[in-house]
Amino acid sequence: MIKIDANTSGVIHDLVSRSSKITTVSHTHPDGDAVGSSVAMACWLKSLGKDVACIFPDSIGSNLEFIFPSDIRKSTIVCTEDPKGAEARIGESDLIFCLDFNAFNRTEGLAGMLASSKAPKILIDHHLSPDAASFDVCVSETAVSSASELAYYVLMTMPETGGKASRLPAGSAKALMAGMTTDTNNFANSTYPSTLRMASELLDAGVDRDSIVAEINWCYGENRLRLIGTAMKDLMTITPDGVSYIILDKATLDRYDVREGDTEGLVNMPLAIRGVRMSIMLKQDEGYFRVSVRSKKGTSANTLAKESFNGGGHELAAGGKLFFPKDIASPEDAAAYIEKVTKDFFAR
Ligand code: 5GP
Ligand code: MN
Repeated sequence: MIKIDANTSGVIHDLVSRSSKITTVSHTHPDGDAVGSSVAMACWLKSLGKDVACIFPDSIGSNLEFIFPSDIRKSTIVCTEDPKGAEARIGESDLIFCLDFNAFNRTEGLAGMLASSKAPKILIDHHLSPDAASFDVCVSETAVSSASELAYYVLMTMPETGGKASRLPAGSAKALMAGMTTDTNNFANSTYPSTLRMASELLDAGVDRDSIVAEINWCYGENRLRLIGTAMKDLMTITPDGVSYIILDKATLDRYDVREGDTEGLVNMPLAIRGVRMSIMLKQDEGYFRVSVRSKKGTSANTLAKESFNGGGHELAAGGKLFFPKDIASPEDAAAYIEKVTKDFFAR
């Protein structure tokens, strides 16, 4: 049961009231929850007359653009595209909302800027092990669907909303529904009573969920489906321990012209197989693979990501990186590495 305590809520409201330039920051490779929670806070702050900007460490998938109202999109900075703009904005911010990440290193290029910024920082996040010392206010709760859900309950405690979803700016309501819907994979996982309550209240307030679900599910190019076909038919390996892994190397990514967002959800698919306990997907990048890990209850994706892939996340959904030549000599060694670390993981 989520309860944002009155003291925390009061401190957040005071900080907002005293600030005029307020910035939201979220994690690298922003997903629907990163964008949804950021846009929701930005729309609310804008409705209070604040000068607002959203900053993301790197590019936003085109499938998530629908979450942005045009004015918020205009004041959004992508650090890899405009590092000086990001640095200037963080430097001049009176207050920073940190959304959907638990430690500065999850913001990559923004991490140093955040560490040297003197502005108070408010964390709203649902990952394990928040680095509480980096933040002035921590709203961190793992038994929720998403950062968007936590942001919703924070906003409900603000005097401007007075617990009524109908008083949220329309842009906030839509973004919160979108962020929660993507992080729960449309209510397939991490769905709590508070999640359904939020969804119900947002529906009551007039959010058009059908159009959000259509934007999320029907926004892809043909290339994504062709890639999924190849991944399932030719690239998926299942180990005797019930670990499925798929390696998307550079040649495959080029062949299907894979862009940010095109592989969304692919790592979940092998869990459909009864005997599969864990699913791992690797995506080649410069000098490393991006790693996604998903597991079924009783198996910790977070532990494997932490121990073997320089990462972490949630108990059943985590991620990280596999570097070459640091962790493996070359990209071709990735399969053998996965086989070894998962065999060791299930042997103990
Ligand atoms: P995804 O597989 O969708 O990229 O990420 C799944 C979860 O793992 C997300 O909650 C995300 O925050 C977390 N995650 C992904 N990559 C990393 C990483 O490099 N480090 C950490 N600590 N968490 C990650
Ligand atoms: Mn999230």
